[in-house]
Amino acid sequence: MPDELSEDPVTRLYILITRYTVITGLPDIESYRKIIRDKPGRCIFRGCTEPIAWEDRKGENFLCEGHYHLIKQWISDARKGLIPGKHTAIFSQDPGRSS
Ligand SMILES: [Zn+2]
Repeated sequence: MPDELSEDPVTRLYILITRYTVITGLPDIESYRKIIRDKPGRCIFRGCTEPIAWEDRKGENFLCEGHYHLIKQWISDARKGLIPGKHTAIFSQDPGRSS
């Protein structure tokens, strides 16, 4: 098992994103919107040739349908693994409060 799997969830998320995509920070996945008309562009996942389906607020950093759901899953998994208070600034839209 690679060492990075023992890192904390946020570090692991950053490692996944920098390894598999061409962006260097967390995408603001909550602000993504469906692309409703034909646009030129490629999914930010390295080597992905699927048609783009989602874009961020600025109309950049496209994702195909499958990778949009994958990134959402990564972020949601990282949030679930968060120790409250440790990295909550990164997820400012989610106070990370547990019941
Ligand atoms: Zn893709």
